[in-house]
Amino acid sequence: MNASMIKKTLCLVVFVAMVLMSVLPGLQPHAANSYQGKVTADILNVRAKPGTSYAIVGKLRNGQVVNVTSQQNGWLKVSVGRVNGWVSAKYISAVSWTGYVNATSLNLRSTPSMKGRVIASLPNGTSLTVRGSQSSWLKVYVPSKKMTGWVSQSYVSKSKQSKASAPPSSTKTYYVTASSLNVRSKPSTSGSVLGSVKKNTAVQVYAKSGSWSQIKSSNGLKGWSSSNYLSVKKPSGTNPAPTPAPSSPQPSIGGGISGKTIVIDAGHGGMDPGALGRSYQEKALALTSANQLASLLRNSGARVIMTRASDVYLSLSKRVGISHAYNADAFVSLHYNSFASTSSGVMTFYYGYSKEGILASSIQRGLVSETGMRNMGAKFGNYHVLRENRRPAVLVELGFLSNPVEERYIATPNYQAKATRGIFNGILSYFATR
Ligand SMILES: [Zn+2]
Repeated sequence: MNASMIKKTLCLVVFVAMVLMSVLPGLQPHAANSYQGKVTADILNVRAKPGTSYAIVGKLRNGQVVNVTSQQNGWLKVSVGRVNGWVSAKYISAVSWTGYVNATSLNLRSTPSMKGRVIASLPNGTSLTVRGSQSSWLKVYVPSKKMTGWVSQSYVSKSKQSKASAPPSSTKTYYVTASSLNVRSKPSTSGSVLGSVKKNTAVQVYAKSGSWSQIKSSNGLKGWSSSNYLSVKKPSGTNPAPTPAPSSPQPSIGGGISGKTIVIDAGHGGMDPGALGRSYQEKALALTSANQLASLLRNSGARVIMTRASDVYLSLSKRVGISHAYNADAFVSLHYNSFASTSSGVMTFYYGYSKEGILASSIQRGLVSETGMRNMGAKFGNYHVLRENRRPAVLVELGFLSNPVEERYIATPNYQAKATRGIFNGILSYFATR
């Protein structure tokens, strides 16, 4: 081997290593470790690719908060609104947030791994300052113990556990005292009005937030109302008899999908096309799948709400808001993937295993058995529509548009029918026992 050959071999080894480095972390293309960052420069250029020689695709102002989804050689991939691209990591500082332990007790470890030494045990409700993340672990500061360490992301929630998810037995019957009481999407007068209930109507109260109560009326209307117009006292005398409250808010004791509220979220839309294949756009395929899934579910008696039913843009927080407003029994977000031209397969993401892990694996199982697609598993994913969702929520990736062969197949009516049937079967079997 002469010097030039050694040099060539070395170059090849370095090249292969670089390709591997760029490919391996990308198997979860929407990035497993997203976090929020704040712009520290006066004006920060957003570039098409990680390097100062690439085109400027946008500019960010000092103090702007962005979503950081991946990093590469001192560059961060960020997105905010319709701006999407790469910025120098020097001008972004991580934003910390407050989380709460939602397990009975949670181990604080020295490193982000089950092998990390346990340095403290944190009781339920302990407040944590989250400063970063690595795979499914959060780097936290515990103010009450003045300690820093790592905890499993699955047991940290953004709000102190409310009683909203408590079993129906903990609900209480109240009666409406106003002539007509608005039911809103959130505990504030800024919440949209979902409907109203008449005087003396009996409602079930699930949770309270400030002077607001989360209610469900006997006709199934769910939302938030002012507690000022709710009384535990049964109306009497000349008033008409109250509508009897259902003995249990959940229909059918043996479980099943009938009467369950399922929010279907077709990913992207409008100005956000999502992944682009050679002929197909993610937003259009996602909507087709969503429509098919919706009709399967409706035909089996589920109450289906679609976050979007046409090609419109919808923010991620609006999508989550819909899940909360309808108190979804399941929120299913549909996506098509993009990475390498050889990537292939389907996967289903969950954020909290205890909240939605079973739903995710059930859907993944149905999807794979119906389509025969490569099984990339049910796994943890740090996505806004899952992380911020108080209801059981999953995100399904239905195949790779970046792979021209797979693109052609997944766009066929045959695949669409099989895939939605598979997801439907997964949802059915999930609800069979609850
Ligand atoms: Zn997507």
